[in-house]
Amino acid sequence: MKQIFTYLLVVFLLLTAIVRAQVSYTKITHYQTYYASATRNNTDWFAIRKFENEGKIYILLVDPDELETKVDEAALYTLNPMPMAQARLYYQKSSYEKALRKAEDQSKSMQNAGIQSGMPSETGITLTADLCPSGRPLDRRIFTDIFEQFKKIEQPVPIALSITGIWMRQHPQDLEWLKEMNTKGEIYITWVNHSYNHRVSKTLPLKENFLLEPGTDINFEVLGTEQAMLKNGLLPSVFFRFPGLVSDKQLIYKITDFGLIPIGSDAWLAKGQQPQAGSIVLIHGNGNEPVGVNDFISLLKSKTKSIAKKQWLLYDLRESVETTFEGK
Ligand SMILES: [Zn+2]
Repeated sequence: MKQIFTYLLVVFLLLTAIVRAQVSYTKITHYQTYYASATRNNTDWFAIRKFENEGKIYILLVDPDELETKVDEAALYTLNPMPMAQARLYYQKSSYEKALRKAEDQSKSMQNAGIQSGMPSETGITLTADLCPSGRPLDRRIFTDIFEQFKKIEQPVPIALSITGIWMRQHPQDLEWLKEMNTKGEIYITWVNHSYNHRVSKTLPLKENFLLEPGTDINFEVLGTEQAMLKNGLLPSVFFRFPGLVSDKQLIYKITDFGLIPIGSDAWLAKGQQPQAGSIVLIHGNGNEPVGVNDFISLLKSKTKSIAKKQWLLYDLRESVETTFEGK
């Protein structure tokens, strides 16, 4: 009897690991934007991409209320393609559309546009860490520390990682390590698109820097990163973070036209900005900003007692954005 139980437990653990591990699509062709309502079993998803992989057609789907995403075979859905403008009307009442609109409303400033904070009524924060191109290894302290602090309280611990195409290419082992923590259920990663090249100049003014640099191929910066994510077995989320948090109005609208929600931050720790309840905190996971990571670790330590009482938690980015806009 005991043996059967052990056997069943092993099977169960393996299955959960398989469910958590994302499939890799290594032979993607015809990757493109594609907007359609996609219904299956009375559930309405919003398709934002379409691609082929080894003879099958897949779609990337967004749950307009929960902001979750998934990749599935197109053949399983009843698809009703529509231009993005029409889709925005169709999903008018959803958290998704409200978040897109809010990001567009905040598009005037050249720095830190988009959604900057989550649930102000909650105590705790949403942690985002950026993986811009870097010659340094991943700052693993972030992940081991949140796991240690929260393992009895919140498992897996949610974290949003803004990833670039170049970082994926530079750091395959660090990426495997992150995927393993995610598969083991120690952390739960929301993968945020942070552009492919993340070009930056020390001399150019902001209006010509980062993604605003003349000659930038925004199509590749967005879709190329998503394809690299899918090839590496990462599930693209519905979020986008501008390199350097720099954008202009036109660029914001380009990103929302891709169906993506720009995410800013109201607490970039290395710049001395203090996190408030509900803040979207920004640190760098790429080893380039140890000061911010140190600040975050001290913040965690200062909250040990509140964490133990579940009075200070880390929130899932999808949930923070979704609850901010639901019913509004
Ligand atoms: Zn960056």
